[in-house]
Amino acid sequence: MEDVFIEHGRDGDIHVLRIANPPVNTLRTGVRAGLHAGIAACLKEGARAIVLLGSGRMFSAGAEMTEFNKPRQPPSLPEVFDAIETSRVPVIAAIHGSALGGGLELALACHARVASPTASLGLPEVKRGFVPGAGGTQRLPRLIGGEAALRMIVTGEPVAAAEAQRLGFVDAVLDGPLEAAAIAWARENLGRSFTLARRREDRIKGADLAAFDAAAAALLKRTRGQESPKGCAIAVRAALTHPFDDGLAVEREQFQKLVAGEQSHALRHIFFGEREVARIPGMPADTLPLPVKRAVVVGAGTMGGGIAMSFANHGIPVTVLEQSEEALARGLKKCEANWERSLASGKLTQDDYAKRRALLSGTTDWDAVKQADIVIEAVFEDMAVKQEIFAKLDALARPGVVLASNTSTLDIDAIAGATRRPELVVGMHFFSPANVMRLLEIVRGKASSWEAIATAMDVGRRIGKVNVVVGNCDGFVGNRMTGKRGFQLERLLLEGALPQDVDRVMEAYGMAMGPCATGDLGGLDMGAAVRKARGTVAPIADAIVARGRFGQKTGKGWYLYDDKRQRQPDPEVQALIEEMSAQHQVARRRIEDAEILERMLLPMVNEGARILEEGVASRAIDVDVIFANGFGWPAFRGGPMFWADRMGLKAVRDKLAHYAATTNDPNLKPAALIERLAAEGGSFTAIGQKKAA
Ligand code: NAD
Repeated sequence: MEDVFIEHGRDGDIHVLRIANPPVNTLRTGVRAGLHAGIAACLKEGARAIVLLGSGRMFSAGAEMTEFNKPRQPPSLPEVFDAIETSRVPVIAAIHGSALGGGLELALACHARVASPTASLGLPEVKRGFVPGAGGTQRLPRLIGGEAALRMIVTGEPVAAAEAQRLGFVDAVLDGPLEAAAIAWARENLGRSFTLARRREDRIKGADLAAFDAAAAALLKRTRGQESPKGCAIAVRAALTHPFDDGLAVEREQFQKLVAGEQSHALRHIFFGEREVARIPGMPADTLPLPVKRAVVVGAGTMGGGIAMSFANHGIPVTVLEQSEEALARGLKKCEANWERSLASGKLTQDDYAKRRALLSGTTDWDAVKQADIVIEAVFEDMAVKQEIFAKLDALARPGVVLASNTSTLDIDAIAGATRRPELVVGMHFFSPANVMRLLEIVRGKASSWEAIATAMDVGRRIGKVNVVVGNCDGFVGNRMTGKRGFQLERLLLEGALPQDVDRVMEAYGMAMGPCATGDLGGLDMGAAVRKARGTVAPIADAIVARGRFGQKTGKGWYLYDDKRQRQPDPEVQALIEEMSAQHQVARRRIEDAEILERMLLPMVNEGARILEEGVASRAIDVDVIFANGFGWPAFRGGPMFWADRMGLKAVRDKLAHYAATTNDPNLKPAALIERLAAEGGSFTAIGQKKAA
């Protein structure tokens, strides 16, 4: 088995071990065993140096996470590292593509590291909810110092080869084909004595612990309720205060505790889910996307501008089409201002800005549509307007070109009906700000062809989005589910909570923003307009809007805003809510945080179950990926369906029935799917897996 995963080559007395476990060279059992045996074989055959490389796209993406839930097979990574560190000849890691997690830890255990200029090196374990578990937290500080290691490990962000060399954990950046260059480097350095990372003291001796703690506190402030960054800081700190082996023990303890924890399960659920959602049940395997080299976006407002920026940011020429020169100029200016902010903050270079700006053009001439390989419409949310535009687009766009709408609520089939190519009409529902948010709901209409879906997905992927294919219904998946919270929010306020209580609970859970603050950001008038169109009411929210409190844009909504857009509770809102309670003869009471959380999440879960029943989403993971990428739901909580599965669907069913009865909310009547799964002892995630299998 072993030689399947590790290829052993020679260039004179320099030996080469190549990891061959495509596509990303994870360090599965066979790889570890092959490395262990390979080192011994090189030594036995008289190697004077060993170059360790990855084949294919990269050095190694790290541990094989699918092995985490299984009994561990020897040799462990530390045993492989032992073989490297006790080797009497230097082992040199030669890195191309990526060295991530366990892959980088493997390289750190080597005597030296060389890298291609385009290589990227990092320890992203924190993002999967644990800490580097094979010595990364102990070796990296010994190579680059405590604070630099802390930053890399707590943020999980990789660095480029040149930066790695500057920091001190890459010895040389080598141009040209890496294997030959690394062998030459090894040969040049044959006489040199290397100091293993574990034996280095120079970067950590006398470390300023107070400065380290201050740096850790600053980094941890941004991580809300997430546990793994704290574990990372504890493990890195141990490198500064403990001998190597004791530090390893601290790292091990953090690793084991975190990897078994709820948050790590949630993060891996989302991590694998983001790959899973790219596989569309039912789509024929040979479906090919249509080639797209140029896009046209109709409308350069809030959404159109952001969508166009996404194209330009990813190297695809894009033209925005507006109805007037003024609106066009305004739209383009907003894009420029956006890029200029990134320029000022150092996130964008002048050169990149120039490239992106050059890819964006604007026009009021509909002939531009003739050049498009895809058109995305983002004009006012009005069916008559959209149908008129789609008829026009259909007449102008070449045959075979996909026409997409960014509508948030309208019927894609009705829009498609305005064209003679309904099979090429899909929804591409972006989220605001469209140049930032990763989520893209791709709406499959009744007539949409697989080719059109594949094209939208390919375009989405190319502009950096996480695509989730959803069915055509009011609100699609994300907005349809969050929309169901409204009734319970009103009830909570009526029964005793205030906007700041609800937001505090949701933000403590890890949401980027509570529902009231989110409403204020988007504009409360928008929600009121949707309610009016649907003939629904929300007495408190409607009263807030009736007082001209539209949210941040009017300086007040659920909260009061200062000129820095900082929110604060408003006594006027409290008085209004209390008055409403009195009017409705509801005795206000203190509501526990746990109840607030449940009453905000359960309506979404119940609607999510209906969405699964109807097939609007294919799997529970699709729903969870939507929330983790478009609704500020913390990935370390795994999404609403994951939350419900963890609670157990029997308990979910009982709580729904309880709140449905006590609050008279028809939305909370347990969905048939929940009733069935609760009775069977099933879970949302398990049905997803059954379907996928
Ligand atoms: P917006 O009012 O900011 O922009 C609409 C733009 O379309 C305006 O600049 C307008 O001049 C232009 N326009 C109108 N008719 C046109 C025509 N005939 N030809 C060319 N341009 C025309 O609106 P928005 O917030 O960007 O929303 C656009 C669409 O995106 C809507 O369908 C909305 O439901 C959807 N959407 C909005 C959000 C959001 O958060 N704002 C999120 C997702 C989807």
